[in-house]
Amino acid sequence: MTVLESVSAAEGGVLIVGASGFIGRFIAEASLDADRPTYLLVRSVGSKTIKTLQDKGAKVIHGVIKDQEFMENILKEHKIDIVISAIGGANILDQLTLVHAIKAVGTIKRFLPSEFGHDVDRADPVEPGLTMYNEKRRVRRLIEECGVPYTYICCNSIASWPYYDNTHPSEVIPPLDEFQIYGDGSVKAYFVAGSDIGKFTIKTVDDIRTLYKSVHFRPSCNFLNINELASLWEKKIGRTLPRVTVSENDLLAAAAVNIIPQSIVASFTHDIFIKGCQVNFSIEGPNEVEVCSLYPDESFRTVDECFDDFVVKMNGKNFTGETDGITAQNHVVEVLPITTCA
Ligand code: NDP
Repeated sequence: MTVLESVSAAEGGVLIVGASGFIGRFIAEASLDADRPTYLLVRSVGSKTIKTLQDKGAKVIHGVIKDQEFMENILKEHKIDIVISAIGGANILDQLTLVHAIKAVGTIKRFLPSEFGHDVDRADPVEPGLTMYNEKRRVRRLIEECGVPYTYICCNSIASWPYYDNTHPSEVIPPLDEFQIYGDGSVKAYFVAGSDIGKFTIKTVDDIRTLYKSVHFRPSCNFLNINELASLWEKKIGRTLPRVTVSENDLLAAAAVNIIPQSIVASFTHDIFIKGCQVNFSIEGPNEVEVCSLYPDESFRTVDECFDDFVVKMNGKNFTGETDGITAQNHVVEVLPITTCA
């Protein structure tokens, strides 16, 4: 397969699969913000997110990635250069057909499979998270066998309170009654705002330095443990909350009941906040790079700023800092259906 070293933003289209989803919408917004010709492969109709993206200039193509001939046709017809998949955890293996289509077309300059979490070749969660990682690993191996030019985005955790049973925690206000602290609360993780997951993902897609590489997101400003997250949130709401320990065994038990997807999240929570899967290795291999070293002049939104957003959501746009009387029940924003996780 021919690989051009870079494309300018004005040429080749970006095809995004899964733009109606939680992570996909951030990527689609960033692609549009970067003035790239943005195509969305959409399988369901009636999504408000898709309508909003269309209004901003995205072009919608209806279909599914499991139809190889269809995928080959649209990749050619729309002169797609970049394919980004953000399909959910339940559908990871649907990407196998997409990889075959990309190989057959032979003109795709970069493919980013649905990763957007940890380095799945390194992390080793208990089941049922392990099954999802095995599927993501299978997609990686096929990409590599087919010689498809790729970038793997390992963006770590989304900036929010890391509820152990909700795959889209940034849609939920942090606790207002008590904190559940995993283990002793001292294991650190990296938290990245959804908009930054989108922004930096789009920056990598035609960067020669990220070709055939895993890109790790490790913004030092957002390197926090759960005790620190709790203290930060307490400052925002102006009061302290009780802290309850959720032990390693509690998390393992929540994973072992194998309720999907909550148990998948519990297994990842165990991997992050007990085993330290985001921090127990250094980025030094030939096929990996850290995003801040690539784009040192670009800033990340801080967790502090993301927590301000939650306060605004709680109190409405005229937030004054008055937080007395806030309860979780009254102020939790609309929770998306739980489906998958990193
Ligand atoms: P969602 O379930 O929110 O969205 C999945 C999207 O994929 C939807 O738009 C869905 O379309 C689309 N889709 C699924 N199958 C197909 C198919 N065969 N053809 C076309 N479209 C399809 O996914 P998430 O955003 O939760 O997950 C995306 C990735 O991000 C996953 O790899 C996940 O592990 C990771 N993740 C990382 C997080 C983190 O904190 N780092 C948090 C959450 C996810 P439709 O609308 O029709 O269903």
